[in-house]
Amino acid sequence: MKAWLRFLPSIVNKAIMSDAIKLFDIDFNILRAHITPRGGKMLVEISGPQETECVNYIEERGIQVTPIMKVVKKEAEKCIDCGACVSLCPVRAICVQDDWGIDIDNQICIACGFCINSCPTKAIILIE
Ligand code: SF4
Ligand code: SF4
Repeated sequence: MKAWLRFLPSIVNKAIMSDAIKLFDIDFNILRAHITPRGGKMLVEISGPQETECVNYIEERGIQVTPIMKVVKKEAEKCIDCGACVSLCPVRAICVQDDWGIDIDNQICIACGFCINSCPTKAIILIE
């Protein structure tokens, strides 16, 4: 799963995530993070057979978990391959192909919506 984890100041210095990784033997990948002593948030990918147990564990210890359930889709007939969306994607989920068309990798997309707002022909839509 891909999710935002939010940390309150009271737990920001606790080793909750590292304990969870060891306890549940999960793969944990940080995609974005902004953590300060006053709290913060982190966009992560968590995967493994005990993914659910891991999420329950960290939620019980005060980390707020918000899964990302949405993805985006390009409507090919509307896209004019202008490339405006490519550089705006914060996680490089949009790439230019050999034929200069663009492709969106929903495994990487974090559903931020920047590309939707930047597209002059409204060719990108958000789907659940
Ligand atoms: S929604 Fe955000 S992350 Fe996903 S492809 Fe568009 S710009 Fe990239
Ligand atoms: S901004 Fe819209 S029209 Fe331009 S390449 Fe991206 S999806 Fe296609």
